[in-house]
Amino acid sequence: MSVSPEGGRRDELRTRLDAVEARIRSAAAAAGRSRSEITVVVVTKRFPASDVDLLADLGVRAIGENTDQEAAAKLVHVRSRGLLEVHFVGQLQTNKAASVTRYADVVHSVDRARLVRALDRGVERSGREVTALVQVNLDGTRGRGGASPEEVPELADMVAQSRLVLGGVMAVAPLGADPGAAFTRLQEVSRELRAAHPGAAWISAGMSDDLEQAVAHGATHLRVGRAILGSRPSHR
Ligand SMILES: *Cc1c(COP(=O)(O)O)cnc(C)c1O
Repeated sequence: MSVSPEGGRRDELRTRLDAVEARIRSAAAAAGRSRSEITVVVVTKRFPASDVDLLADLGVRAIGENTDQEAAAKLVHVRSRGLLEVHFVGQLQTNKAASVTRYADVVHSVDRARLVRALDRGVERSGREVTALVQVNLDGTRGRGGASPEEVPELADMVAQSRLVLGGVMAVAPLGADPGAAFTRLQEVSRELRAAHPGAAWISAGMSDDLEQAVAHGATHLRVGRAILGSRPSHR
């Protein structure tokens, strides 16, 4: 019996999806949370459309991409496109915002007023419902994007008054720091946000290496790439 390369990849993805699922279940149990409060966004950046189709076949319903160029080109080739919610998780240039609103259901990286205005104009044209998360910078340096915690309330108000749907907050744990401390801070920012916007309850936090800490600190959305897809091919 010969095993097709596709079959091999499918088995590999299934095994890793199961392993991630087990990690989430045990982290949720440890935190006294229900597994059903947590959504996994599988970050497929730099992996081909064929992997996205295999993931959809295995039951994945939310994927994440981090550049407009790659996402727009790839999604055309995804046969299971209609089954999938698309999350944009990367830093977003204002001039790419309108393009992203043509395919993304959620933008996790809203971190400045100019970007809110550009996304709002995009939604006006695309006529699609797009949920926006305010990305919070938790390490005090500007490099990886995100608004400072102090800037979040004003930005959130702006999103809430736009055509975007305010979903909540997102963060990437600072490199080399304790993710638990970072996610504790994010949870505080979320609590303040919900005082003004009770519906904006999403907390997007946690990646392959720190998803347990994110679940422990209230994450509702995990963005998991390598733990499911394997190590990423370098840019083509
Ligand atoms: C790539 C990426 C992820 C996934 O990271 P892994 O370490 O592969 O799980 C999550 N969030 C953002 C913003 C990313 O760019």
